[in-house]
Amino acid sequence: MEELLQQILQECRPYTGQGALASYIPELARQDPDRLGIAMFHKDGNMVEAGDSRRCFTIQSVMKPLLLLLALQDNGRETVRAHVGVEATGKPFDAINVADNALLAKHLNPMVNAGAILMCQLVGGETYDQRFARLLGFIRRLAANEKIDLDEEVYHSEKATGSKNRALAYLLKAHGLIRGDVEELLDCYFRACSIRVSAADLARIGCVLACHGQLPDGQRLFPAAYGRFVNANLMTCGMYDGSGDFAIRVGVPAKSGVGGGIMAVVPGRMGVGLFGPALDEKGNSLAGIRALELLSARLDLSVF
Ligand code: GLU
Repeated sequence: MEELLQQILQECRPYTGQGALASYIPELARQDPDRLGIAMFHKDGNMVEAGDSRRCFTIQSVMKPLLLLLALQDNGRETVRAHVGVEATGKPFDAINVADNALLAKHLNPMVNAGAILMCQLVGGETYDQRFARLLGFIRRLAANEKIDLDEEVYHSEKATGSKNRALAYLLKAHGLIRGDVEELLDCYFRACSIRVSAADLARIGCVLACHGQLPDGQRLFPAAYGRFVNANLMTCGMYDGSGDFAIRVGVPAKSGVGGGIMAVVPGRMGVGLFGPALDEKGNSLAGIRALELLSARLDLSVF
């Protein structure tokens, strides 16, 4: 199996040169665009990896499904659905998607920035420090890696340059959808984006979602229904406004982030983590998607 992954990376290397690094903060623009790594974590507990699978990068939007999962655990399905929609917006992840009425939240989903910012306030905890600590602890448990931590430099950069996210959050506040201090809420969101993970971590987390909350040793981390909720949301909205194309080419629920990571969930079988920081025009890892396309064809992964 490792040979297959090596071969796929070999075939995908030329694609790294065709993408562009995220450049909205210097830390992301400084990454090496030629990095490429893949990890596959099977439900029986077996990890197979190739390339830069242990290299750390910031999780960015791949934290959105995990934030949603924690919000579901803390509030239940009905409350989450009352706060945010589940339909694809058909717009970029950071679009100022404003409808001038109280139904605004229905037009957002948890995989776009405004929806994820709303999810931060649904995480249980008295302060935003506590909420972030719970999210970090949850991600560590999902990945079985206590070393996962914050990238302080990326966090400070996100916070210093996050005017668009700030605009989104204040709009949500103006529409009465945010209670309390907007800056504290945003701080939690910026820190969540700045958590450092590797492709191997994403493969493990993807596998827990693929097994609807169950770990290889039988322990359950969340109710199966919440896993199905998140996976369905990933399938329709996880790959920015390239989710339809990804469903056709790869055919599994997945989430990407502008740090170059992709977490793919193969229901009932495995999780796959990818790292390739050169992005396509939608914000998805270009070589990462190609690698998943090849893997899906060779191992017959598509759920369709
Ligand atoms: N920190 C980025 C933002 O909120 C995350 C974007 C992404 O990965 O989609 O704008």
